[in-house]
Parts: sequence; C-alpha cells; structure tokens
Amino acid sequence: MDRRIHELRSLVANQIAAGEVVERPASLVKELLENSLDAGARNIRVTTEQGGVKRVVVRDNGSGIHPDDLRLALAPHATSKITSADDLLGVASLGFRGEALASMASVARVRITSRPADADAGQAIEVEGGLERSFGPAAHPPGTTVEVTDLFFNTPARRKFLKTERTEQSHVDQVLRRIALGHFDVGFELLQSGRATLALPAGRPEERLARVLSPEFVARSVAVDEVRGELRLHGWVGLPTHSRSQADQQYFFVNGRVVRDKLVAHAIRQAFRDVLFHGRHPVFALYLQLPPGGVDVNVHPTKHEVRFRDARAVHDFIFGNLNRALRLVRPDSAPPPVAAEPGVRAAADPTPRQNPLAWADARVSGAPGGFVELVARQDRGEPPAGWVRDRHGPASPAPGSADLPPLGFALGQLHGVYILAQNADGLVVVDMHAAHERVTYERLKAQLAEASVPRQRLLVPLVLDVAEADADVAEEAAEALAVVGLVLDRSGLSSVTVREVPALLSGGDVGELARDVLADCRELGTSDRLAERQERLLATMACHGSVRANRALTLAEMNALLRDMERTDNAGQCNHGRPTYLVRSMADLDALFLRGQ
Ligand code: ADP
Ligand code: MG
Repeated sequence: MDRRIHELRSLVANQIAAGEVVERPASLVKELLENSLDAGARNIRVTTEQGGVKRVVVRDNGSGIHPDDLRLALAPHATSKITSADDLLGVASLGFRGEALASMASVARVRITSRPADADAGQAIEVEGGLERSFGPAAHPPGTTVEVTDLFFNTPARRKFLKTERTEQSHVDQVLRRIALGHFDVGFELLQSGRATLALPAGRPEERLARVLSPEFVARSVAVDEVRGELRLHGWVGLPTHSRSQADQQYFFVNGRVVRDKLVAHAIRQAFRDVLFHGRHPVFALYLQLPPGGVDVNVHPTKHEVRFRDARAVHDFIFGNLNRALRLVRPDSAPPPVAAEPGVRAAADPTPRQNPLAWADARVSGAPGGFVELVARQDRGEPPAGWVRDRHGPASPAPGSADLPPLGFALGQLHGVYILAQNADGLVVVDMHAAHERVTYERLKAQLAEASVPRQRLLVPLVLDVAEADADVAEEAAEALAVVGLVLDRSGLSSVTVREVPALLSGGDVGELARDVLADCRELGTSDRLAERQERLLATMACHGSVRANRALTLAEMNALLRDMERTDNAGQCNHGRPTYLVRSMADLDALFLRGQ
C-alpha cells in the first residue's frame, strides 16, 4: 500500500464531513428547515417518502438563491451567511458552516430549484454523488425547493444504520416539532408518505403549543417573561402537576436555536427541585435571548451545544426566574426531603419478615383493603367502607405502651407533606407520598406476580390527544400494557382511547397516567424490552396513584397508610431509594432539649 500522504478526493472529504451533519433523514430535514428559516421563509412544507430515506423535499417561500450562486450553494464551505472568522462571534443565522448542502450532495441525489423574489423565472441544479447532472431554467414560484433522494445510495454501510420507516418518520416529526416551537411566526406543514401529519399555521402560539406539546400543557403551565440587562427569558413552564416520567418534552431555545445544554438543564432542574417529586421531569418551552456575542454556537457541527461567555450569569438568570415563577404558583411548596442527621435514625430497608415492621393488626388497619383502596374509593366519590365508625382513628395510647404498632398512630399532618405519628420509641415522621408510592408499587408487583394486574373498566373511555409517536407506541405496545393493567388503543393519527386502568389506580388522573406510561414505552422501545421492564412501568404507575403533597388526610387515613407500610416489603424506602420515614426516639428528643443532663 502506498503510505505517502495524498489529498482526499473532494467527494470522499465531503462524505466524511457528511458523517457529522447527515446521520439520518431527520438531520436532512433539520438542515433544510434551518436554511429556509435563514432565507426568511414564512411558509415551509416538508414532504417525505419512506421516512425520508427515499425522498425528503423541503419547499419554502423565502428569499431564493441567485441563479449564478446555485452551483456555489452546493460547494463545500460556501455560505452567504458569514465572510470572516470574526463574523462567527456575532452570528445570528442558524447556518454558517456552508457544509450542509455539499454534504448531502455527496451522499444522496440533490436537486435545488430556486427563484429569488425579483427574478422572472427559476433555475434548477441536480447533483448526484457530488457530480453535476443537470443545470437549467425551471418553473418555480419565489422561494426554494430542495429535494434529497436516495440517501446513502453510494455509502451502503451508512444506509444499514437507518431504522424502520416508522422510526425515521418519527424522528422527522420530532425535528419539525422542535423547530416549529422556535418559530411561531412561520407556518409549517408535514406530509409523510402522502399523509398530512402535521399542519401548524403561523402566528398562533397557544394552538401550536397545544399541537406540539399537548392541550393539557397549555392549560397547566405558566407563562414566564423576564428581562435583565441584555438577557431575556420567556416562554412557558408546565406546573409541577403536569410533569412527566421522561424528559421528552423539554424545549430550550437560545436565540431561536434548539439547544441541549448541561448548564441550562442544571439551572432548570434546580428551579424545579423543591416542587417536583424525584424521578419526575418538567415540561417546558423556553426561549433565551441574548446578544449573539454572548454565546458561541460553533462548538459542534450540529450546533446543539453552545458555550455562554458569562455562564454563571446565564445560569442564575434562568434559575432565579423559574424558581420565582414556580414559587408564585405554589407558595407552600414542599420542603426538601429531611436529611438524615446525627440523632435521626433513618429506618432504611426494613425487611418485614425479620423485622418488627412485619407486624400488622386487622383491628387497627381500618378499611379492609387498606390505604390504597381507600384513597381510590374516595377519589371515586364512594364512601370509605368500614370507616364511618372509626372516623377519627383509634385514640393514641400513652407513649411507651407495648400495644403500639411499629409505626405507631398518627398525630397529624405537617404542611401537607409529612405524617407525624407516635410509636413506642417516640416520634415517627413519614413522607406521605413516598410511602404511598412504595405501598402501591409493591401491591401492583404482587398482583402482576399472580397473573396480571386486575383492571377496572372506565365507564366513559378517555380519549387523549397525544403525539403521533405516542399513538404509534400505544398501537405497538397494547398487549404488553394490558398485562400491567392498562388497556388502550389508537383511535386516530394522534389520539388514543384509554379503556381500562389498574383497579388500584382507577381513582387517579387516568390521562396523566396513560401519557407517562406511553412516554416510558417510547423510551424502552420494542415490546420485548417492555416485557423485561414491566416493573418500571409499574413504578411509573404507582407514582401516579400516590397521594400528592398538600392533600389533607384524616387521622384514619394516615393510620391506614401506616398499617399498609408495616405490611409492605421495602416499606422503608420509596421506589427511588429515598427513605419513606424517620424515627426520632424519646431519648434523641430528650437529648435535643438537654433533658436530664
Ligand atoms: P449554510 O447554511 O451553513 O450557509 P448550507 O450548505 O446549508 O450552508 O447552504 C449554503 C448556502 O445556500 C446558504 O448560505 C444560502 O446562501 C443558500 N441556501 C441554502 N438553502 C437555501 C434556501 N432554502 N433559501 C435560500 N438560500 C438557501
Ligand atoms: Mg445550512
């Protein structure tokens, strides 16, 4: 082999560069949409065939390309957007690397037809595997159409990495949604395999949010708009009650560009920390604007990462504003979890069979089915069977009484978050939600182990608007979901109908439950994996069925939960591994008050 250095043929060089920007049809769509937006288009239509593998067409009514520049548009490192490296510092356009079209032309057949507004006719160029095939006049209204056909026809190795048509379609759909959320003033249309799958008219933010995220998001979110100096943050954040089990509906834009940034993610997570249960993810569409010089977007070819010049200020600005916005919504937001400190004994992982917690007494356990059923019944408006007589719970025996169950009897509720109880040792503090979640989860697991999770048919089936990808998932995963107690079917392109839910959870928010489970399924992928990960689905469901903070409980309900915990495996920690309760003994308390010292 000749080991001397030689320059790569430009086709090969472009194919290598293409590896960075063209990974699948969705990346073509992203680059082409960005070009159309940079050209000031007001309407953009995207058409795909075979998920875009066969064909992607993006047509816009933007400024068009001068006929003399048409060849250049396809040449590597040819751009109209910057001229010098200094321009990079203030770049306001989405593109600037001048690579996208050249890269596409090296791995697919590309045809561009374009007509600037002031020209009488259009001009077309066709390139295949980097070679020009035709060039000449062509009819076109003002604007540009780019057609990319047979992606990777000359690089079969890369073609193998493409997934099924449906998967590629769903990626295209996601890209379009993401970009559409960043440009409310532009109308978008998507046609996949001859079907109009998304139509987003310009200028109606709420309607777009409802279509791209969900109608619930619009109803259950707060608008934010804050300015400090040259920074502006505006947009919408979902209320903590509209959280999801996946971080799949989080959109953050920096100067109109979709960005996934660690610093930004951290600031948002911090802002939600106190109001969101562990393991839940907020939903948001947020827009940060700052002078172009304050952010470097040339960090990665796909430009998903950015670098802020004053990272600290940006972080604090985002955190501070969201934190304040969320506090206004929930002034009595839950305090951070109690940290185990000296003198506080965390009751970690009691194993009931060799643990006093296994103690359970029918006399004090209240409703026959325990707390979980009780809450479900009350949410359904049914009388709490067996509870009327005992409404205020058993009287609390004196401390030290040998008759007390391990977790004792409830004294009351603290700020809607903790149950305070008195047991033989002293004070028991229970994280109500975490404990209930664990009890529900263990019960669902036990039901599944026996056969399948018992289901409750909804009197009125619930029709949900969901993303098309979620409706696909509902269709594919229907059988696996029925086993864990959720029966739903696809009832439209982007809607599903929920028919039955796990009986234990029928009192909760069925819509939210179904959405989160679908989001889980989408992340888990194939139904094989769903079967393996049933427990994860149960955990997601349990989180929903569980009492939220700020729900007032009667003493009887609190006692029922304590009894349920005593009967439940792993009751000492919630599904996420946090403790569900702490005990502070009389001796610990005496020491705190310097009693007897
Ligand atoms: P970049 O966007 O980084 O400049 P591209 O390879 O994506 O590089 O595009 C090259 C050039 O082609 C752009 O700078 C622009 O001048 C022109 N161009 C591409 N698409 C369009 C379009 N839809 N409308 C008008 N001009 C376009
Ligand atoms: Mg571009």
